[in-house]
Amino acid sequence: MTGISQREGVTLEELKKKMADFARERDWDKFHSPRNLLLALVGEVGELSEIFQWKGEVPKGLPDWKEEEKDHLGEELSDVLLYLVRLSDICGVDLGKAALRKVELNAIKYPVGLCKGSSKKYTHITTTTTTDSEVQSNNGCSGNV
Ligand SMILES: [Mg+2]
Repeated sequence: MTGISQREGVTLEELKKKMADFARERDWDKFHSPRNLLLALVGEVGELSEIFQWKGEVPKGLPDWKEEEKDHLGEELSDVLLYLVRLSDICGVDLGKAALRKVELNAIKYPVGLCKGSSKKYTHITTTTTTDSEVQSNNGCSGNV
C-alpha cells in the first residue's frame, strides 16, 4: 500500500480532505448530515468499546494482545477519529484549533499547583482565591474535560 497511509505525522487537515474526497466520490455528501455523522460516531465508539469489553483492566501498550487484536483496535480508533473529523468539518468547526483551545481551557480549569497527582474534578478543587463558580464563569465550561 502506498500514499497517505504510509506517512507519519498525518494532519487533521489531510484527514478532513481525504474524508471529503471519499464522500464526494461516492455521492455520499447527501447522507453526511451532522445528526447522521454523530450517530455513526457513537456507533463506532460502541465498536471500540466492544474490544475492551469483558477484558478487565489491561496494561498500557497492550503487551499481551495479538497483532490481529491491535490491528482491529487501530481500525476502530480510526473509525472514531474519521467520523469525528468529518462531523467537525460538516459543522464548520476547525477541530485542531478547537482542541488546542480546549487544552488551554483545561489548563486554566486544572492548574498544576492545585491538581498535580489528583483525579478530582475541577468542581471539587479547593482554592483560597477562586470559587468553583468563578472557575466555571471564567472558562465557560460546565462539565468534565
Ligand atoms: Mg468500525
